[in-house]
Amino acid sequence: MIDIKKLDIKMANKHLIDGDFSAVELAENCIKNIQEKNLKINAYLEIYDDILKKAAEADDKIKNKKDISILTGIPLALKDNILYQGKRVTAGSKILENYTATYDATVIKKLKEEGAVFIGRTNLDEFAMGSSTENSAYGVTKNPYDMERVAGGSSGGSAAAVAFGGALAALGSDTGGSVRQPASFCGVVGLKPTYGAVSRYGLIAMGSSLDQIGPIGKTISDVEIIFNAIEGNDKMDSTSLFENRRQISGKDIEEKSIGIPSDFINDGIDKDIFENFNDSIKKLKSLGYKIKEITLPNIKHSLAVYYIIMPAEASTNLARFDGVRYGLRKEGADMIGDYFETREAGFGIEVKRRIMLGTHILSSGYYDAYYNKANAVRNVIKYDFYKAFSEVSAIITPTTPAPAFKIDEKSNPLSMYLADIFTVPVNLTGMPAISIPSGIVARGKAKLPVGLQIIAPHMREDILFNIGRDFLAEK
Ligand code: GLN
Repeated sequence: MIDIKKLDIKMANKHLIDGDFSAVELAENCIKNIQEKNLKINAYLEIYDDILKKAAEADDKIKNKKDISILTGIPLALKDNILYQGKRVTAGSKILENYTATYDATVIKKLKEEGAVFIGRTNLDEFAMGSSTENSAYGVTKNPYDMERVAGGSSGGSAAAVAFGGALAALGSDTGGSVRQPASFCGVVGLKPTYGAVSRYGLIAMGSSLDQIGPIGKTISDVEIIFNAIEGNDKMDSTSLFENRRQISGKDIEEKSIGIPSDFINDGIDKDIFENFNDSIKKLKSLGYKIKEITLPNIKHSLAVYYIIMPAEASTNLARFDGVRYGLRKEGADMIGDYFETREAGFGIEVKRRIMLGTHILSSGYYDAYYNKANAVRNVIKYDFYKAFSEVSAIITPTTPAPAFKIDEKSNPLSMYLADIFTVPVNLTGMPAISIPSGIVARGKAKLPVGLQIIAPHMREDILFNIGRDFLAEK
């Protein structure tokens, strides 16, 4: 028996090369864990029917030492909003219930070339809108640490799958925190790369100026390995960055200086999280990091700005789901009637809320007042970060203001939106950030993992990995 929960990609790769076990055995062990756990946890929506075939192909490559990489034969989980040709993809929505992807997302194409083995597609909030997977049309994903609590969201299925050993690592997507927040709730590592570092081609769009695909894994090195495999310019995504246009910033700053925006963090956060965060600061100090107070005066407007820009973009992106080209179709009295019937039946309540908000924001008369104003404030927030990064090489915050909450606890949408207070500003600026496990807090009998968020300047994922590795004492 292989203990998937104790295995990282580097070790798995070594064992595969040394012939200690095969990719087929590795995949079989993931499937076994899924059979044991998934019925309760609901992390996977589908287990692919060709896993063992793909794993056997990887074994052949390893045997023949042909076209192999560190990811050959490594079992990965896929958030169900990333297109994998010939496989169903639902985005957690009824509107795409029977939709089959007609092409591979660029990230899938790249990982296939590396010989990774895809285990299945994982649950998410409908169209990635949410922080708990409670907005999925296919049921909530439970937290492997406490079945009464959520796994986070929107990539809750991916984070839970990694945490219970249903895959070695996973892909998620992050528009306002959807990789980092579930990673922190499930005690794993989650990276939101720099905007434009990873191609969005084949990711079902939510907020196009905010979305990034990011890896979830048990260690920094797992996340780094996947990031290295999926990043890079892609002509199919006009916002993807060219190597020579990447703005390498923060180079002259002393590598070991970290900023803390205290006035932002102290407000209204859970006391155990606050304590854990202070312990993290102490730990970083003992590792030789200089901790500096910084101010990000406009960061307090981030949630307001996000909840204008994101619904505006989401309402535009979701206009294509009208019963004509994709998924569900319901007949109405006429063409407009068809649209109404299809969208009424296919979308859930949170998606409808955001489409209505976004449509209103973009309507004539309100566009300037809301959308343009929000964009202006977005630039001011970016500027705050640029200024801070002239003094420090990274910024830290807790990943979330509280540990995993109970299922049904946040029935009011605003209280759910507040769960993203620390993660959303990063998407507005396009900078990279990572969530790493920083300890455990107790809630009754439950022991819940919490996360530390590290933010770096554009294209400086290397800083995140270095600090993360120091913090977790990873070689
Ligand atoms: N929870 C946030 C939202 O509901 C972020 C979602 C995401 O990153 N996809 O918008």
